[in-house]
Amino acid sequence: MSGSLDYDVAVIGAGPGGCIAAALLNNAGLDVGIFERAQFPRFVIGESLLPRCNHLLDEAGLLGRVEEQAYRVKRGALFIVGKERRAIHFEDQFTKGWSYTWQMPRADFDNTLAQGVQAAGVSIHFEHTVTAVEVGACPRLTVAGPDRECRDIRTRFIVDASGYGRVLPGLLDLDEPSGMPFRHALFAHVRGDRRPEEASDGRTWVSVHPEGAWIWSIPFSNGKTSVGIVAEPDMLARFPVDPEARMRAIIAADPVAAEFLSDLEFVMDPGEIRGYATSVKRLWGEGFCLVGNATEFLDPIFSSGVTLAMESGSRAARLILRELAGEPVNWNVDYSEYLMRGVNTFRTFVEAWYDGSFHTVLMAPKPKESITRMITSVLAGYVWDLDNPFVREHKRKLPQLARLLKRMEP
Ligand code: FAD
Repeated sequence: MSGSLDYDVAVIGAGPGGCIAAALLNNAGLDVGIFERAQFPRFVIGESLLPRCNHLLDEAGLLGRVEEQAYRVKRGALFIVGKERRAIHFEDQFTKGWSYTWQMPRADFDNTLAQGVQAAGVSIHFEHTVTAVEVGACPRLTVAGPDRECRDIRTRFIVDASGYGRVLPGLLDLDEPSGMPFRHALFAHVRGDRRPEEASDGRTWVSVHPEGAWIWSIPFSNGKTSVGIVAEPDMLARFPVDPEARMRAIIAADPVAAEFLSDLEFVMDPGEIRGYATSVKRLWGEGFCLVGNATEFLDPIFSSGVTLAMESGSRAARLILRELAGEPVNWNVDYSEYLMRGVNTFRTFVEAWYDGSFHTVLMAPKPKESITRMITSVLAGYVWDLDNPFVREHKRKLPQLARLLKRMEP
């Protein structure tokens, strides 16, 4: 790579958000360069997809490559709250969409996407860290390569898909405190887990811990399982400091988790993310936009992160194509407002998970089939389907349903 090399669009980060945007722009004939700090494959958390992702992968020409990997198929999820269990099935949906998706180690998945976009013609510069930017009419990036030499890259548009690197939020002072409470996540890959009967097909299951945390279990097709714990810092502090000992002790203190996760062999040192929720002041500006976790990240409970990263990558690519073709683009309406409709639908569901009202909805003794289908579509990532009342009026509908069901409890 030489300092004079220009790209129509420069993408920061080769995660799912960056790869989807790059693939669509490249397929439309633009010259796209991705600058990626890491060498792939690299570990990242976020291993359980939602069916909406399949549509976005297909659109970007990447679905076939993912299918070839034979990852574990995910047909739904199981939620366990004390003695109550409820499985959701993606085949029973309100929105016409995919009835399955996958769960897999992200190192492998992200590498598969990166190889797919490279094969289609995108240049990916691994081990190239973006250290400075200029935005506006003539955007530029400063990129430090493995030799630590800095080079200037000229481009027509910058897509920041840097995830937790949060490159543009940091450099352009766009970071904003998240309105979500401060929670930590502790996670590892393990062997030796067992599965509840309702998750015997290997689907993701989550269980609410009696002390307020929740635990996830995401089995892969390679014999390993991702196990993670999400909790507020005070709760975690009541358990041993050593991360593996802490995970084992938290699992042992939950009868459900202990039944299925007591004899684990850890095949990686546990990772930890403190205060994972993030937000930004705005999602775009002249010559740039943010996608994926570089924007807002709410919470892992409904596995929505990769879906939102891909959706924003796809949406951004479509608008960039119009802008670079000289057409007027209303980024506020067509990007920020569009994306926030989906994010805010998930926000309502996440808040209802933590205040317990979603547990009432999930565990309703005689759930109405039509309502279950609408809720399943939200949990499948179809959070832009305005025909679904639990999308269109999520703020009113979900609490209303929870209140009604609460009143009907014996
Ligand atoms: P990433 O996948 O993070 O990719 C960003 C890339 O940018 C990285 O490869 C990084 O190396 C690169 N980069 C960073 N800084 C620079 C720089 N300066 N220069 C160049 N490159 C740079 N989501 C789900 O869908 N399902 C789940 O089950 C799930 N579980 C989660 C559990 C936890 C505990 C947490 C915290 C999150 C979870 N998520 C989950 C969310 C998921 O991790 C993210 O939403 C997703 O990875 C975002 O993808 P992305 O493309 O925006 O960024």
